[in-house]
Amino acid sequence: MKQPYLLLTPGPLSTTPTVKAAMQIDYCTWDSDYRTVTETIRQQILAMAEANPNNYTTVLLQGSGSYGVEATIGAAVPREGAVLMVAINGAYGRRISEIADYYAIPHVDVEFAEDEAVDPQRIEQALAAHPEVTHFATVHSETTTGILNPIERLVPLLKARGIVSIIDAMSSLGGVPLVMDQLDCDYLVSSANKCVQGVPGFAFIIAKQSELAKTAGNARSLSLDIYAQWQAMTKQPGKWRFTSPTHVVHAFAQALNELEIEGGVVQRYRRYAANQQALSDGMQALGFDLVIDPADQGPIITSFKYPSTDFDFDAFYQFIKERGFVIYPGKVSTIPSFRIGTIGDVDTTDIQRLLAIISDYQRLTH
Ligand SMILES: *Cc1c(COP(=O)(O)O)cnc(C)c1O
Repeated sequence: MKQPYLLLTPGPLSTTPTVKAAMQIDYCTWDSDYRTVTETIRQQILAMAEANPNNYTTVLLQGSGSYGVEATIGAAVPREGAVLMVAINGAYGRRISEIADYYAIPHVDVEFAEDEAVDPQRIEQALAAHPEVTHFATVHSETTTGILNPIERLVPLLKARGIVSIIDAMSSLGGVPLVMDQLDCDYLVSSANKCVQGVPGFAFIIAKQSELAKTAGNARSLSLDIYAQWQAMTKQPGKWRFTSPTHVVHAFAQALNELEIEGGVVQRYRRYAANQQALSDGMQALGFDLVIDPADQGPIITSFKYPSTDFDFDAFYQFIKERGFVIYPGKVSTIPSFRIGTIGDVDTTDIQRLLAIISDYQRLTH
């Protein structure tokens, strides 16, 4: 089957033909072959994140990435006596705050402009002003804009105060080198369809075992109870509590192997960064301005300002789609913009083809 276009979106993204092919078989969930696949994935995720298996564990959870974030907040934050601080500089940070509202968790939101990275100094001040805070959550790669927030400078501030740290690393894990043993954060959440380059269907949580062990009975949702899921996966290795996305799991196992063949996270990061650099340089040469300061820009997705007030994004989008690429609308509320992702099974030759199409569009519309 021929793909009508390449996805230049931040997940779901374009997967390799071999990842798609891994979904052609129907698997049984209780069979030991399948459970071995699941168990191997759990270990490979720890290795990918450089997390010591004696200290960390992986919990897999059915659903999209938000299910993983919600499950982590709902399990990590106890029903009584806890206050969550959320650092927000985009839609995904705001989503964490929304989760806290649903769970009636008292929370302190520290808001930043969407084109600005989370500033550790301001977090330090906010923590000093709110000694009642027990838990902290933020986003690593804020997919709203493509900003990479400085989690390696934030987590130590939390450690110093004994605050539990929760990082949404959805669109960075697997594509941005991250050493859990050094970062020492308590929970890190990601999903199958981002930088590992699998297909959508489950989220996963890398959790510090000593923290997760304290969360029995915290969850306010049966199906999102990551403590119970962890217990089930530990007692009967590789067994999920409820029906798991078997095809997605096999695609993910293949995707993890392909990540290793590519040379691991460092090599994947280099490919993504080269894509992003080519895109950013090429678009600026075509007259598009960046929304985000290059110092804060990550390799995942890049936001560009509309070149003029009468810019017709829909026409631009359709023109590009008909020629083989799907891009993304903008998500920054205050700046009219669009976004182009640089992750998935794409390389700089794809980016150059895209730039040529955009150049054609400009020639035809001017
Ligand atoms: C993709 C993403 C999520 C999860 O979104 P879903 O639509 O639930 O998969 C959460 N946070 C960030 C930063 C993301 O990029």
